[in-house]
Amino acid sequence: MENQNKKNDGSNATLVEILDLMISRGPEDVALVQKAHDFAKEAHKDQKRFSGEPYLVHLIGTAFNLAEMQADPQTIAAGFLHDTLEDTKTTPEQLLKEFGSDILFLVQGVTKLGKIRYQGIERHAESLRKLFIATAKDVRVVLIKLADRLHNVMTLEHVKPEKRRRIALETIEIYAPVANRLGMGQMKGALEDASFPYAYPKEYEQTKKILQVKNQEILNQLEDVQRVLRKRLVKENIIKIKSDFRVKHIYSLYKKLLRNNMDVSKIHDIAALRIIVSTIEDCYRVLGIIHSTWRPLPSTLKDYIAIPKINGYQSIHTVIFTGSGEIVEIQIRTEKMHNEAEYGIASHLAYDELGKPDAGGTLSKKLRWLSQLIEWQKNVKGSKEFLENIQMDFFQDQIFVFTPKGDVIELPQGSTAVDFAFAIHSDLGEHVSGVKINGKFMSLDHEIKNGDIVEIQARENSRPTYKWLEYAKTSIARRRIKASLAEQEESKKRSQRNK
Ligand code: MN
Repeated sequence: MENQNKKNDGSNATLVEILDLMISRGPEDVALVQKAHDFAKEAHKDQKRFSGEPYLVHLIGTAFNLAEMQADPQTIAAGFLHDTLEDTKTTPEQLLKEFGSDILFLVQGVTKLGKIRYQGIERHAESLRKLFIATAKDVRVVLIKLADRLHNVMTLEHVKPEKRRRIALETIEIYAPVANRLGMGQMKGALEDASFPYAYPKEYEQTKKILQVKNQEILNQLEDVQRVLRKRLVKENIIKIKSDFRVKHIYSLYKKLLRNNMDVSKIHDIAALRIIVSTIEDCYRVLGIIHSTWRPLPSTLKDYIAIPKINGYQSIHTVIFTGSGEIVEIQIRTEKMHNEAEYGIASHLAYDELGKPDAGGTLSKKLRWLSQLIEWQKNVKGSKEFLENIQMDFFQDQIFVFTPKGDVIELPQGSTAVDFAFAIHSDLGEHVSGVKINGKFMSLDHEIKNGDIVEIQARENSRPTYKWLEYAKTSIARRRIKASLAEQEESKKRSQRNK
């Protein structure tokens, strides 16, 4: 086992470090990135940042963040050039001549996205919409925007206080959710953690204290667990493993504390032991070994390998009691899942043998939800509604389905036609007789998928049965079904008495 160390955070990177990080590093790739660096240096030579440093520092920082998320050389080069059209005399023709149409497209994409500001709820929705549409067109544009923003929030100390807070808030409200939705765990965490002290200073200090105290306690526990587990795994012949300790991002800890009335004793994943193995089969073997060594905390096992999160995240999480009665979390995943969890959509831009990004396959599958979202938007009138439809729940495990008229209904993943009917109206739910999904008759327990068009058929004399309680996943549907069942019992009794 080896422990992985944290590298340079990119706020003060160099061209050499960027070249070191690049996966694809043929001579042309190096030459391209070098050329973009030199071009940007010259174009921005008279500009300074708030810190007084040359503007180039920001461009290196942006390109570094892109290299770290394993972006391709074109995207890294565009990272160097992303502010040339807006802030310098550089023309599109020049970029086209020097770097070609692909890079020009990326830089123009970033420039068109422009300044995304957090200005109340209406503008907020617009900004999200802009980012999503840009993502659907070419995800690399949004990767550059995220890399650019990350460097900006990492150097916020040089910005005036009022502006600082606005930038921090819009990062937390707009950019981080987008990174999360693209499965970029590392980017999301970095954006939030850099913004947290400026967005909510008091809460930040409070959380920092909690983290400092608890973290050391738990890391000691985890080291013991790691030692014992290592021996067991070797005995079982599971040798190709890596393990490290994952400390929860501070903003994410704060959010979880909020959900638990600031009660830190309820949070078991402040630090977690992470086991990375080569195959899915090994993930389950490791899980078995863990559970036969320590007692798991009931109902804490989460199998995101069998059922990935909607943003694609895969891992097994389990919480165990250690020998000394403490509670710790262990996460098990393959190397591939690990890369996907850290870099999300960016990890699918990995190259084929020809060094070209993999635009088909996995990536386009991952992006299908995006084009659906944009389709759905057409059915939604104002930006406020759009926001209400996508905010929070959208970024969690929610699906969006349609009525035949095109109204959007939002449901938790795993919902069925029964949930759908009750979500529309209790009257409809209580009289469901059949369901058509995308025009085909389906059984009532059929799981509805994102983007399905669901048509409920109702009959006056249809009533819920006990079976329906198994079909219904949402609490509202279950509550109504129970009420209806009780009513049916009641009226049966009444009619028997009247005989
Ligand atoms: Mn910039």
